[in-house]
Amino acid sequence: MAKGNINVSVENIFPLIKKFLYSDHEIFLRELISNATDATLKLKHLTSIGEAKTEYGNPIIEVKIDKEGKKLHIIDQGLGMTAEEVEKYINQVAFSGAEEFLDKYKDSAKDSGIIGHFGLGFYSAFMVADKVEIITKSFKDEPAAHWICDGSPEFTLEEADKTERGTEIILHISEGEEEFLEDSKIRELLVKYNKFMPIPIKFGTKTETLPKPEDAKEDDPAPTKEVDNIINNPNPAWTKQPTELEEDDYKNFYRELYPMQFEEPLFNIHLNVDYPFNLTGILYFPKLSNDMQIQKDKIQLYQNQVFVTDNVEGIVPEFLTMLRGVIDSPDIPLNVSRSYLQADGAVKKISSYITRKVADKLKSLFNSNREDFEAKWNDIKIVIEYGMLSEEKFFEKAEAFALYPTVDGKYYTYDELYNAIKAKQTDKDDKLIILYASNQDEQHSYIEAAKDKGYEVLLLDSPIVSHLMQKLEGSKENISFARVDADHIDKLIQKEENTISKLDEDQQKQLDELLKEVIPSEKFMVQLEAMDSNATPFMITQPEFMRRMKEMQQTGGGGMFGMGNMPEMYNLIVNTNHNLISDILNTETKEDKERLINQSLDLARLSQGLLKGKELSDFIKRSYDMIK
Ligand code: ADP
Ligand code: MG
Repeated sequence: MAKGNINVSVENIFPLIKKFLYSDHEIFLRELISNATDATLKLKHLTSIGEAKTEYGNPIIEVKIDKEGKKLHIIDQGLGMTAEEVEKYINQVAFSGAEEFLDKYKDSAKDSGIIGHFGLGFYSAFMVADKVEIITKSFKDEPAAHWICDGSPEFTLEEADKTERGTEIILHISEGEEEFLEDSKIRELLVKYNKFMPIPIKFGTKTETLPKPEDAKEDDPAPTKEVDNIINNPNPAWTKQPTELEEDDYKNFYRELYPMQFEEPLFNIHLNVDYPFNLTGILYFPKLSNDMQIQKDKIQLYQNQVFVTDNVEGIVPEFLTMLRGVIDSPDIPLNVSRSYLQADGAVKKISSYITRKVADKLKSLFNSNREDFEAKWNDIKIVIEYGMLSEEKFFEKAEAFALYPTVDGKYYTYDELYNAIKAKQTDKDDKLIILYASNQDEQHSYIEAAKDKGYEVLLLDSPIVSHLMQKLEGSKENISFARVDADHIDKLIQKEENTISKLDEDQQKQLDELLKEVIPSEKFMVQLEAMDSNATPFMITQPEFMRRMKEMQQTGGGGMFGMGNMPEMYNLIVNTNHNLISDILNTETKEDKERLINQSLDLARLSQGLLKGKELSDFIKRSYDMIK
């Protein structure tokens, strides 16, 4: 029996590990299963290159709870360790046997999927155990070894009588950590961290129903059998080549990832690079609604099939965090802090690769089946518009597939839109005015007025679209977006010709004074316009810039300081060429004039959805009085 000191320079490293190394106690299980997986993969590699003369077989990893003995066992059938190797790999904290193995077998083992590399994982066992045992038998012809350590830097190492190849780790769970002796807790952790690890993991058994024998009677119970309960899928879809997978395989995998999601994803993107970094994965576009709800099913990050986190901030560009799926990369430095992660060059490259890949996929979907792409546009536009706003590269690429739908259900790319409206919607200052509505019902009369002129009206209704318009106005020459109700249509797109006013100067002055008396000036800016006599006599608009600033402030940033608190101000456009205006001027009594103006103002407010409460009741009462 050997006795000795663990080789570390700090006097007692365990309290340190317990307190600071990992914030989360539960990851000990992930680490130990990773080591068991590594041990098995190493053996697989050594047998495949003929360096280990042993039968590889179908090794599994088993997790067992001994509730009475307060012990947790993790058992593998991997390559095991000799006593000498235990001294070397276990007793030297921060010496990684995984890294050494990869170094030694550089060329042949680089794709072996070995997980470990910091040489600290094993000691995470002491976060939950006050005593740890290792019983291990190497594939080499040497006696088994038994290592015991009680959390002090002292250990004992002696021979053991284990005969089957592999390693058993026994954790004596400490007081206060008893939750790790609960079936449900261990199952939860296995599903969270190990669901897609490459070696089958057994946790207990389950009863399987077998087919009834031919000669069984009707009410004979079907025979059953106890089988290993394997908790993982060792070959998840993302580890396969895109050519090996059908559409259904992607959908099935989505369900495996998110068992609680009943909606199908819209489409997927298979990521697969090995130069200049290693990355595989599958991203899914879920159906997103306009309110950008907090999503709970996030992208999951794996390292060699071990779950690491579902906080992918910094690795995936922010606009893509609305997607779902899996990213797996051995190259992402996982055990380091987030701020370091964001500054890491490899991570930046990964982020821009993912952006490019997503843009390419969208482009090819658009090109191969535009109709289908248009049908999905409503569900994916938020991600695309957000991406265009936040990533310059994506903005450029999105030219090819970003769509601008019209109120009539047509979908234009920007270039198509430009060519379609250029002739009619260029104003006298040579500026192209792009008209849009945000709500077909509420802005119906304005939309109709614009369509009567032969203009196209876009339907832009996502919450961040005002930011996007601002960006487009900044990056394209001489264009401007205007919501159809921002002004009278003739003012929105001003052409040279001016309609002649039916009222003379005196009458205009008279009208102006009359309106000033009746219309509350703190709410409405009165504007007299000589328009087509068929155009509405009274019309309420809200200036484009004012409304957009308010909207932008509501969705964060971009707006002018304090705009959100400004009182609502509207324009009241009065069409001096409409017959009603002459009628008002010609009406005898002042009282009747006021009544007509108030009624007209209320009709204009009604058409903008601005008439509410008492004012609405008064309006209805007044209307009944007028028709009786
Ligand atoms: P890492 O996995 O980063 O190398 P660990 O602290 O997790 O570091 O493990 C240290 C070393 O101990 C491993 O590299 C390996 O050589 C050895 N080891 C740990 N667990 C096992 C096991 N179950 N079977 C064989 N060797 C193991
Ligand atoms: Mg490890």
